[in-house]
Amino acid sequence: MVERQLRRRGIPDDRVLAAMERVPRELFVPDSVRPYAYADDALPIGQGQTISQPFVVATICSLLALDGSERVLDVGTGSGYQAAVLAELAAEVVTIERLQELAETARAALAAAGYPNVEVRVGDGSLGVEERAPFDAIAVAAATPTVPPALYEQLAVGGRIVVPRGSRDGQKLVLVVRTVDGPVEHAVLPVRFVPLLGDEGFGET
Ligand code: SAH
Repeated sequence: MVERQLRRRGIPDDRVLAAMERVPRELFVPDSVRPYAYADDALPIGQGQTISQPFVVATICSLLALDGSERVLDVGTGSGYQAAVLAELAAEVVTIERLQELAETARAALAAAGYPNVEVRVGDGSLGVEERAPFDAIAVAAATPTVPPALYEQLAVGGRIVVPRGSRDGQKLVLVVRTVDGPVEHAVLPVRFVPLLGDEGFGET
């Protein structure tokens, strides 16, 4: 997976490649799709949700440019896989999921895989996790019409947020850096994520 799907396709960051080599992705997918755990695809994890494609996880992690010292917020825990990769790359990860059942499964997978530096919360991640802010980096794993203002506000100055921004049907992965002069934006690649619901997302429909 790392060689064919990531390194050859130009993921430049050796720390990210090494992290993805270490995380046992098979622990984060349901039994029914376990044979495909390392496939070049998103996979269903129940409740209409998906675990992101490895290439997309690697791209998000590379854009966040982590050095191991950071506190990171991961919005949309899903399977917990992205949180595990972030936990390899940063000091501490707070991850938030709106669906209780997925949060519980993710919590168990993260414990089994050995990531004590991840805290799994249940709630509306479009509002961030104010009491743990500021974050040095934020990864959003669900599509939003705009960068949720609460998430930008919870970034440290110099912090980075990666968000799939667009419509429900298609988005661009964007990197926004919070600077003293305001947000600086870079659009990276077209992607397709499940919608971020909640107050600052697409609403509860
Ligand atoms: N990072 C995940 C991908 C999960 S898909 C992984 O590696 O497996 C996106 C997840 O975002 C879904 O589980 C969905 O339930 C969740 N989600 C959608 N809106 C949300 C919100 N407002 N707050 C928290 N989680 C949300």
